[in-house]
Amino acid sequence: MNKVGFFRSIHLKFVIIYVLLILVAMQIVSVYFVRQLETTLNNNFKTTIEDSVNLLAYYLEEQIVKERFPEEGDLSLEEDVNRLLSDYNSADINEVQVIEGDSLKVLGTSDVENRSILGQKLPDPLVRLAISTGQEQNNEFINDAGQRIWVLVKPIMQDDEVLGAIHVSAKIENVYDQLREINNIFSTGTAIALALTAVLSVLLAQTITRPITDMRKQALAMAKGNYSRKVKIYGQDEIGQLAMTFNSLTRKLQEAQATTEGERRKLSSVLTYMTDGVIATDRKGRVILINEPAADMLNVSRETVLSTSIVSLLGLEEDYTFEELLEERESIILDYSDHKENLILRANISVIQKETGFINGLITVLHDITEQEKIEEERREFVANVSHELRTPLTTMRSYLEALADGAWQDKNLAPNFLDVTQTETERMIRLVNDLLQLSKMDSKDYQFKKEWIDFVKFYHRIIDRFEFTKQQNVTFERRLPNHADFVEIDADKLTQVMDNIISNALKYSPEGGKVTFSIEERDQFLIISISDEGMGIPKENLTKIFDRFYRVDKARTRKLGGTGLGLAIAKEMVEAHGGEIWADSVDGKGTTISFSLPYVRTEEDDWE
Ligand code: ATP
Ligand code: MG
Repeated sequence: MNKVGFFRSIHLKFVIIYVLLILVAMQIVSVYFVRQLETTLNNNFKTTIEDSVNLLAYYLEEQIVKERFPEEGDLSLEEDVNRLLSDYNSADINEVQVIEGDSLKVLGTSDVENRSILGQKLPDPLVRLAISTGQEQNNEFINDAGQRIWVLVKPIMQDDEVLGAIHVSAKIENVYDQLREINNIFSTGTAIALALTAVLSVLLAQTITRPITDMRKQALAMAKGNYSRKVKIYGQDEIGQLAMTFNSLTRKLQEAQATTEGERRKLSSVLTYMTDGVIATDRKGRVILINEPAADMLNVSRETVLSTSIVSLLGLEEDYTFEELLEERESIILDYSDHKENLILRANISVIQKETGFINGLITVLHDITEQEKIEEERREFVANVSHELRTPLTTMRSYLEALADGAWQDKNLAPNFLDVTQTETERMIRLVNDLLQLSKMDSKDYQFKKEWIDFVKFYHRIIDRFEFTKQQNVTFERRLPNHADFVEIDADKLTQVMDNIISNALKYSPEGGKVTFSIEERDQFLIISISDEGMGIPKENLTKIFDRFYRVDKARTRKLGGTGLGLAIAKEMVEAHGGEIWADSVDGKGTTISFSLPYVRTEEDDWE
């Protein structure tokens, strides 16, 4: 998650809310207060002026009435008026004029500088209205200097007769000046209050936002799998309790996570280390889990195969649909063998089902049964081979014995011949059975070797000598053997059998006048013994097969030569039991070399000196 910018943070929102609240409150207060104050100040101002004008009107009325009955020594009316008005110069009053009722002439003014208007007619409509109606008039206007002026015209009355009027122009601007000053004080106060609120709200908001920010950080850390953090608890209020709940939630989540993780690890190690392949699917048959052995067996990569259909993964599209697979109770044999290698798998399928019967998916366990099948196959082949090998001599013997029983025993020429054949066949059968017994002994591993240190060169010479002495064909022997002794630890009887078989094969397949070469090669850890002939050779594709039981390259011809196909199989078992290997090289039509190795420790001759 990305970081919350300052302008989007809850912190700023708090501050803005506080400041706005204060601003609105101050606005409402100031509007109400200032309006009220303005009215009050205005009224006070006007009342004060009116009061003093009323008093003046009273005096003037007296003076005007007195004027009508003059006495000796009295001042003229103008003089009286001006004397009275001279007291009327206050800060709030601009000018007071007294106007005569009938002539509308100015009788007096409080403004000393404005004496020139005395005796002049005042054309003020307000004065005229006041005099004609006998009603008090007032008006507010702004003069040339931009000041607010309040004009009050008060008629001077005696009973119902209008004697004149007092025209007062007052500086109501003073009231507004005062208001302006108060407004200024108010604005400054508001500004200070706002600034203070802003600072306080920043601090105050922190007490709320800090735990929230903490929790947010922890939630982010938890999302990344880090449960080690703890939220600091700042108090016992709702946020404090939220933090506590958050902490306990974290702990529980951590425990749950650990349990899940543990289970997952157990399952995954079971799946990884089991040798059988396991594939799990969802209820639509899509692969959701496949372990390494299964991926290896099917030769697919675990990543790419996820969510493909199991039916196509196992290559069963032609035989099964997913629904049919769910119904399958028997295990399925999957044969993936091709010309390169054999692969036969057995798939056991079980359905994951809820108690309600709802199918959640399917688990397939794959078991590699290639080896098992191969052994089965070999066993079948072996039994077939043995029966076949025994049947041939038995059939031959039966026909010869039948012929003898039918009267041939009386024929002096035929009878010995026939008996000879049956004897040969019997011997062949005995040889075969002996070979089989030997192989079976070696298979069952209860074979005892009588190993001793033998000079292999001397041993080799003795065997070749024996063959040279008994051989009936026209074959020459060539020995390429070292002059010194090569000691190996072997069972001489068994190795004699191995050599006998290889050499007799070489003689059997050598042409007239051919040559058989015997050689020894000393390698670092092995002695390589080779026997080469110049016979018809072995086709390349059969080079490894000749070591299989009953395997013969050309069955018809070799049987004529008396072989059973077990000789090299026995040789192979024996060489391997000695810790060596056996192999064949051949050029078709040119000859064959059979070689085997024996473990050997090279000793320098100097060692003995
Ligand atoms: P056995 O040795 O039991 O009497 P065998 O000689 O036929 O019978 P192996 O010795 O196991 O059986 O040999 C297997 C086959 O390998 C032979 O039948 C033959 O076809 C082939 N083979 C073995 N040695 C040679 C060789 N030197 N030249 C050509 N083919 C050979
Ligand atoms: Mg042989």
